[in-house]
Parts: sequence; structure tokens; C-alpha cells
Amino acid sequence: MKRNKSGSVKSDGWDKIRNVSELRHLTGLTRTELIEYFGEMGEPRFRADQVFRALHERRLTAFDEMTDLPKALREKLNASATATTLRVESKYTSVDGTRRFLMRTADGNPVETVYIPTENRDTICFSSQSGCALKCDFCLTAKLGFIKNMSAGEIIEQIIIVLNDVYGVGNETPHATNLVAMGEGEPFLNFDNLIKALNIMSDENGLHIVPGRVTVSTAGIVPKIYEFAQLDRRPNLAISLSSADDALRDKLMPINKRWPIDDLFKAAKVFEGTLKRGERFTFEYVLLGGINDSDEQAEQLVERLQRHGFTKAKINLIPHNPAEQLDYHPSAPEQVRRFKEILESRGVSAYIRTPRGRDIYAACGQLAAKQEPNLVQIQSE
Ligand code: SAH
Repeated sequence: MKRNKSGSVKSDGWDKIRNVSELRHLTGLTRTELIEYFGEMGEPRFRADQVFRALHERRLTAFDEMTDLPKALREKLNASATATTLRVESKYTSVDGTRRFLMRTADGNPVETVYIPTENRDTICFSSQSGCALKCDFCLTAKLGFIKNMSAGEIIEQIIIVLNDVYGVGNETPHATNLVAMGEGEPFLNFDNLIKALNIMSDENGLHIVPGRVTVSTAGIVPKIYEFAQLDRRPNLAISLSSADDALRDKLMPINKRWPIDDLFKAAKVFEGTLKRGERFTFEYVLLGGINDSDEQAEQLVERLQRHGFTKAKINLIPHNPAEQLDYHPSAPEQVRRFKEILESRGVSAYIRTPRGRDIYAACGQLAAKQEPNLVQIQSE
């Protein structure tokens, strides 16, 4: 594998700074906030703009690398602020090219980010939280429990670290980058930080990842779906469903007891009403062998969707990614195909998602800060 000589995933700045959590993390500031911060330091606006570009467009991770800034300013910044808080603890590369980054926040909590290359685009799957408070029975992240919310800066930094690792610091990316908020955590339980991070990342003088290239996945935090529907420039939405039967969904995804399927579908319908021509949204359905994958359950799903009159919903069928601590197994491939055919024969679009990075605990529902397999260690050098 090609290693980047500049060691982009390591941050020079980090090693020099001891109390990172006491410093202002500039990566998480909007352009306006950055201008204000520079104003407080008695620095002009154009310096703030310059640093915004350096952080987001050039993806520099230390002020000392910003050699176009006066030395005195760099020193001032080093004394009060930081450009980096996350440390890559280990990195794992799958046989299919997927990479999983296990990182630590400045306060020592795990966070994972996954790079998923496809022929002409890159997808980065980032974590909105460390751990997760929801107790979905088929998901390994749930076993971590909730640890903490990612700050906006910690969300953005995950993307910067991955892009720098793949392409080198500051190098342009040859493909468009797609983002999915499908890593550790429930994005809608960290709504404000998530939306702030996405706004900062959409800036054309920065990473310039526009909302159309971003998909946020929720297990069904209903009030936040309504709030999300009102946003002006907003990403795509995916809703994790996994069962059209309330009794079963209560068991698989206990959040269903708080917001059952009818409430969820009502919110999804309002969201659908705000979509523009040609736009769609997704229901994700994890297929668990012998649990939610029968022909009858496919029929039930169609009926329930039709009762709510969805016209812009599609279904992503996700084969279950097994793990030792999980009591489920994947559906037989033949049953996955049948499930899809039943949906399609009744006019519901369905797609089977190919699992990526299963061998390195990087696939859906597998992020649990696993330290193995230990394919590539990078922080120990
Ligand atoms: N908490 C959010 C974001 C996580 S997205 C949500 O639930 O939508 C992760 C996706 O992987 C979800 O659709 C989830 O249902 C799915 N998933 C969880 N565990 C899985 C597993 N073991 N195999 C396959 N998919 C899984």
C-alpha cells in the first residue's frame, strides 16, 4: 500500500500540545466564527479567511505548516488554539480496499471512520458519536453504549484525516467525495453539531462537499425528522427500518417503543413532501436470516408503505454483517433476492447493498472500536 511520506494522518501539532481539550479547535468553527475569533485576537478578517482555506481546502493539520502566515501569528495560534484533536490509533485495510480508521478524541474516546472506494467516487462513512445510546439488537456499536457526542470539529477532522491519508495533505481529490453519517452513533441525537459540521464542509472555499453528496441515516428520531425536513440546504435522508411490524421492531430497534412505525412513517411522509422533483429518500432494511426476511414480511412491508402512500421511497436491503456477540445470521442469498423481487413486483424500488470491509470490522453495524485484525499499525512508528 502507498504510504504518504508527509505522514498526513499524524499531526505534528498534536504532539507539541499537551492539553488539546483546553485549546480552541478551529476546524469546527464556521467562517463567521473564525472571523470573530481572529477579531478578538486583533487580527484582520483576511487572516481568518486564509486560515479557513488552510484548514479545509488545503487540509493542513498544524499551524506551523501554514507558512504563508507570519511567524508571530502562528505562535499566537499555537498558544490558544489547535487545528487537530483526533489521533489515529490504528488503521485496517480490507481485501476490497475499504479502510477503517480507529481514532481517539483528545479526551481518549474511540471514534471510527471508514473509507470506501468505488470506481469513480469515494465514500467516507463518519461517526456522529462515540458509541451509541440506541440498543439495536443486531448492531455491534450498540454494545459500546453511549460515550459522547462528536463536536463539529471532530466530525470534520475525520474527513480531513481520511482524505489526507488517501491522497496526501493538500492534494486535490481526483473523485468527488460522498459522505454518509452511518458510522458510530445516532446522528439525529447530535443534530446541531452534525448540521454545523455539514454546513462548514459545504463551503466552496473549504472541503466543498455539497449537501447532495451527503446522506444522513437515522434509526427514527421522529421530532428531528420534522426539523430536518425544514432545513433549506439539507443532505439526503435514510431511515433504518428493518421491520414493518411493530412487535418485531420493538425487539430489534427499541427506539420503536418511543416512536412506533406509524409515527415514523408520518414524519417520513412530511419529509417526502418537501423533496424536489426527482429526489428520493431511503429506508434501510437489515436482512436477518429467519427473523425479518420471509416472503410474508416482504408483502407486509409493501402494504404498510403503500398505506402511507410513499411515492419517493426506495429500500436498501442490507445483508446482516455477523459478529460473535450478535445472535443473528445473514439471510440466504436466495432469500435476499426473493425479498427484493417481491418488493419490485409490487412497485417498490429495492437495492441490495454489497457489504464492504467485513473482514476488518468496517461494514454496517460492525464499528465497535475493534483492535483486530491488526493489518496496518501506523501510530506506533
Ligand atoms: N444510528 C443510525 C446511523 C447508523 S447507520 C441508524 O441506525 O440509521 C448504520 C446502518 O447499519 C443502519 O441502517 C443499521 O440498521 C445498519 N446495521 C446495524 N447493524 C448491522 C449489522 N450487523 N449488519 C448490517 N447492517 C447493520
